[in-house]
Amino acid sequence: MPSAERPGVRPGRSGRRLTVLSGPSGVGKSTVVAELRRAHPEVWLSVSVTTRKPRPGETHGVEYFFADDPGFDRLIAEGELLEWAEFAGNRYGTPRGPVLEHLEAGVPTLLEIDLQGARQVRETMPEALLVFLAPPSWQELESRLRGRGTEPEDVIARRLDAGRVELAAEKEFDLALVNTSVQDVCHRLIALLSA
Ligand code: 5GP
Repeated sequence: MPSAERPGVRPGRSGRRLTVLSGPSGVGKSTVVAELRRAHPEVWLSVSVTTRKPRPGETHGVEYFFADDPGFDRLIAEGELLEWAEFAGNRYGTPRGPVLEHLEAGVPTLLEIDLQGARQVRETMPEALLVFLAPPSWQELESRLRGRGTEPEDVIARRLDAGRVELAAEKEFDLALVNTSVQDVCHRLIALLSA
């Protein structure tokens, strides 16, 4: 089934190179991003810094740069982050320098970040395209989050709480893609990134 595309508040602007992908935890953002990495190496994906501990299989410098709290504090103090946010008890941020370098070189650039980060990017880089990845249903989101099996119940509960807030923010985005098929979402994202 193709994913539905719902226009948001600012559709149809051209000339952007920076795309922000956001949406509730568990919606499948990292699966979409992994598929993009595999199928579209021409797109540059920003690697965030986080104070979260690595999950099994995650590698420093690939999915994230893993930092301790003092290290993250230092990045904030030195103005090294384009945006950052606290999410479910950990901090996450986008290193500024590599994003600006890739944009200057004309490389299609994608950030996969939470709602608070997307709002910050909208303020600082209003030309960015903000894409919201929506689950087919709330039940689907909950079962994906639980099915992942990597987080204890209290962490899942915090992520579901954050998910309710994030879902309510869909209308702030330029457009929403419903994640019914990873391939289809990737296809649409690539079309947007290279528009
Ligand atoms: P996870 O712990 O599941 O990898 O990520 C948790 C949340 O943090 C996800 O919603 C993800 O999009 C978000 N996130 C990842 N990197 C960043 C970042 O650099 N900045 C912000 N604001 N959120 C991020």
